[in-house]
Amino acid sequence: MIKEYYRPETIEEALELLARETPLTRPMAGGTELNSPSNDQFDVVDLQSLGLDKIELKGSNIKIGAMATLQDLLSVSDLPSALSEAIHHEATYNLRQSATAAGTLVSATGRSAFATALLALDAQLVMMPNEEKLALGELLPLRSELLKGKLITEILIPGNVKLAYQYVSRSPADLPIVCVAVAAWSSGRTRIVLGGYGTAPIMVVDGKDENDVLSAVGHAYMQAEDEWASAEYRVEIAKTLTKRCLYLVK
Ligand SMILES: Cc1cc2nc3c(=O)[nH]c(=O)nc-3n(C[C@H](O)[C@H](O)[C@H](O)COP(=O)(O)OP(=O)(O)OC[C@H]3O[C@@H](n4cnc5c(N)ncnc54)[C@H](O)[C@@H]3O)c2cc1C
Repeated sequence: MIKEYYRPETIEEALELLARETPLTRPMAGGTELNSPSNDQFDVVDLQSLGLDKIELKGSNIKIGAMATLQDLLSVSDLPSALSEAIHHEATYNLRQSATAAGTLVSATGRSAFATALLALDAQLVMMPNEEKLALGELLPLRSELLKGKLITEILIPGNVKLAYQYVSRSPADLPIVCVAVAAWSSGRTRIVLGGYGTAPIMVVDGKDENDVLSAVGHAYMQAEDEWASAEYRVEIAKTLTKRCLYLVK
């Protein structure tokens, strides 16, 4: 439950509030997760007056303001079509108007299509204070520790990389039971990420697309069993989706 609400006008003011030891104070973006019922009590720092919602092309990168909504992202010209598909898959139209890029990554589970695609693209986060840069892959397993007193202000993704996204779910709009995102750089670098299970998507391959990638994919989901699917099923589907993605980025 939210106890106190603040809406600072500057990043410095926001960071000062977030640096307090007590009461527990959390950044609020679209608020879709923070406003959901909870027994926790905390103050929130609303980020909407900080001007963090811009999306710009920076060289060959796309620079996404932390507060840009998922719907804002869909209006970027030349957004890879597979990323657009993952964003549509992440949330419904209404939710996409409020849910922000950073809020979605911070609250992502393994079933997040958006986090799976951004992890494949090796998204980099810019965090304040100190404009520290951090790879999404480093943040995901250690979110609460690494974000203490900090703010994500920007997310950088490469604009010149081929991306494929494939998924299987119970119905077309449901969250994935298994999803795969593959990013391919012109240098030959290939990143393969699996989603659909657990607390965060998993990066399986970052390097050359070699013969044994399918066994690496199978190995990564060997224990991926939950109420939605058996591990055996996930392994088979993940291999098939990976083959399709690799074909699509060729
Ligand atoms: C009706 C409904 C249905 C939903 N369905 C799904 C679903 O199917 N699958 C799913 O995965 N999620 C679902 N969600 C959750 C929601 O989609 C995500 O939580 C949302 O994308 C979070 O974005 P937000 O901008 O609203 O974040 P917020 O709720 O504002 O914040 C989420 C977290 O991110 C942190 N945060 C936000 N911005 C920053 C920043 N700049 N720097 C550091 N930390 C930050 C916050 O402190 C908080 O911990 C649903 C929510 C609703 C209301």
